[in-house]
Amino acid sequence: MHSSRLSQCYKYLAHSTISSSQVLSIFLLKSLDKFIDIKVEITMDSETQRNKCAACYRQFNKKEHLVEHMRISYHSVHEPMCGICGKRCRSFESLRDHLIGPLPKVECERVFRDHGCTICLTVLNSPNSLRVHQDRCQLSRGNNGVLHRFANMGIHDDLRIDSGKTRAVALACKMVGGGSDGSLDLCARVCIIDEYENILFHSYVKPQLPVTNYRYETTGVRPEYLRDAMPLRHVQRKIQDFLCNGEPIWKIRSRGGKARILVGHGLEHDMKCLELEDTAKYPPLMKTSKLSNSLKYLTKSYLGYDIQNGIQDPYDDCVATMRLYRRMRSQAHRMEDYPLATDSQNSNNFASWRQGELERMSPNELLAISRSDYYCWCLDSKDVA
Ligand SMILES: [Zn+2]
Ligand SMILES: [Zn+2]
Ligand SMILES: [Zn+2]
Ligand SMILES: [Zn+2]
Repeated sequence: MHSSRLSQCYKYLAHSTISSSQVLSIFLLKSLDKFIDIKVEITMDSETQRNKCAACYRQFNKKEHLVEHMRISYHSVHEPMCGICGKRCRSFESLRDHLIGPLPKVECERVFRDHGCTICLTVLNSPNSLRVHQDRCQLSRGNNGVLHRFANMGIHDDLRIDSGKTRAVALACKMVGGGSDGSLDLCARVCIIDEYENILFHSYVKPQLPVTNYRYETTGVRPEYLRDAMPLRHVQRKIQDFLCNGEPIWKIRSRGGKARILVGHGLEHDMKCLELEDTAKYPPLMKTSKLSNSLKYLTKSYLGYDIQNGIQDPYDDCVATMRLYRRMRSQAHRMEDYPLATDSQNSNNFASWRQGELERMSPNELLAISRSDYYCWCLDSKDVA
């Protein structure tokens, strides 16, 4: 009798707009001790709701802590999002943990089990549409047949400006060893493909330093392949001209213009001077620990097939890198005028508000003024149209 009365009052409380003093008088007559418990619970609830991050759902005891969290989190519409509860994650890896485990969010995992694609982590309407989706989502290695074999013989070394109609191209190298212990990486093969996986350039490269370890088991490179190969400097110049596509080099850095978008995985030491969409450094594809994932791991997890077994062809790396890039570019994110925190129009977003003003904002309002601290590749899709 007593407890059912209590639950009635609880329900009443949840569905009404009565003031707490009215509630107090109702309860005081019945059970003062129980009331105190409930009252505390209700206050805590609304308090933490008010201080809950609208993006990652972290809860804070004080509003000022939420404001501080928002200042340094750079939440945005470009972060990977759970298709079930709407939680935003820093990387696909943390979204994967959230959905699949080892310690998943129970309610999301239950829905995801029948409706979610374990490769791209999208949630589909029905198990049937999931099957249709997975057939397209799960890729296989693919082989460009005859073209691919010719490429292996090194005949695709005439990188012409008119070749390759696509804006983005992927580049991959295979390294042999230099230095006294053979641990110094020297580029010995280069491949460039367009967005449709056509080979634009595929060549052996003669390193500037003597090769001390050909790493034959993984590179397949033999001394005679490099003897008359194109010298590294020559290759670099060719590639740079191709990427600039008639634009001066300084313009490449400022996206836009005719310059091509270079996609690669951990290429920085070769191509420092060029703008690079790097699958090793793209935050959504990095580990929760902020370290890079290997291309082999990314290809297995996000494309669904194996690469880099046995002798490796840079063509396979190019294809995997390009597919990852296109998958990330095709994400449907809301377009904003100034998507980056570093855009000069945004640089003061949080700084331009007074602390008091920020603390009066709702979690959603705080999220609305927050911008990404990385360049999301979906922004490149504006150029593709
Ligand atoms: Zn957050
Ligand atoms: Zn985006
Ligand atoms: Zn979720
Ligand atoms: Zn998928």
